[in-house]
Amino acid sequence: AFDVLVVGGGPAGAAAAIYAARKGIRTGVVAERFGGQVMDTMAIENFISVKYTEGPKLVASLEEHVKEYEVDVMNLQRVAGVVPGENLHEVRMENGASLKAKTVIVATGARWREMNVPGEKEFRGKGVAYCPHCDGPLFKGKRVAVIGGGNSGVEAAIDLAGVVAHVTLLEFADDLRADAVLQKKLYSLPNVAVIKSAQTTRVTGTEKVDGLVYKDRNTNAEHRVELEGIFVQIGLLPNTDFLKGTVELSRFGEVIVDAKGQTSVPGIFSAGDCTTVPYKQIIIAMGEGAKASLSAFDHLIRSSAP
Ligand code: FAD
Repeated sequence: AFDVLVVGGGPAGAAAAIYAARKGIRTGVVAERFGGQVMDTMAIENFISVKYTEGPKLVASLEEHVKEYEVDVMNLQRVAGVVPGENLHEVRMENGASLKAKTVIVATGARWREMNVPGEKEFRGKGVAYCPHCDGPLFKGKRVAVIGGGNSGVEAAIDLAGVVAHVTLLEFADDLRADAVLQKKLYSLPNVAVIKSAQTTRVTGTEKVDGLVYKDRNTNAEHRVELEGIFVQIGLLPNTDFLKGTVELSRFGEVIVDAKGQTSVPGIFSAGDCTTVPYKQIIIAMGEGAKASLSAFDHLIRSSAP
């Protein structure tokens, strides 16, 4: 059996594996795709101490670092469920195999909810973005739209308004759903326009985004907005379906963890974008992964399991 079995091979999982292996305990990583969301990332400018890197390059360094240690990496394997046990937990794979571990660290990350309209996939990274903290500065002095009027959409619009020339916020419903204090701030900004009852139907462009088309849901009329960037803020979906009924999840499906990364089940820890820890970023996921791993080690030395 593994002492620590990490599920997920993104920044959180890689950090957890390195911290565990450095304790000289038996460590494994099961990942559907090693690297996680970082594999899909073009420019990274906020990984502190590295001024600029690109996703696949950072993933290669992560892999190289993990391979420095005796970590059993099982890539291209999807986990279907975790069955908690008294001393040993069972991690069931989709292919029917199963692994036993004294502690499990779930680091399965999340994915952005997409609009699913023509042009969105095509222009991803060419004007279509999902993370204002990551990509906001790339649109300095340009015009952008934010799709979604919930808390994250309105926060993104306020954030971007300080960086870009102009922000158009589009909300599908007849009202914004964000907290009143955020809406008040939003409406006080001179370079923000809010369009409600607006359904985005298309992203347009040639090499890069040059606009979007939306339908006014009251009149069915189509309108076009010219811009250079679109930030989609309609939700982040944690990859935690396989944990339903096993550990406590928030109403958004995030694994509920305490300050040590402990879940509701002793011996099962979690870290990164799949948890309730706010601000989904590489550097945060790595820190949380390290923390969950140290907590798992602490659990091991305190438990009576041989
Ligand atoms: P992830 O990176 O999502 O990794 C999850 C891992 O779990 C993957 O290996 C996945 O295959 C695996 N997995 C999932 N389900 C299962 C399962 N059932 N069984 C087995 N394995 C499973 N952050 C920044 O800080 N700076 C940026 O510039 C930046 N740009 C971004 C650009 C894009 C396009 C995207 C999508 C994200 C960006 N982010 C950026 C966010 C950053 O990538 C995430 O915060 C970070 O990757 C989270 O790490 P994680 O390890 O928690 O999860």
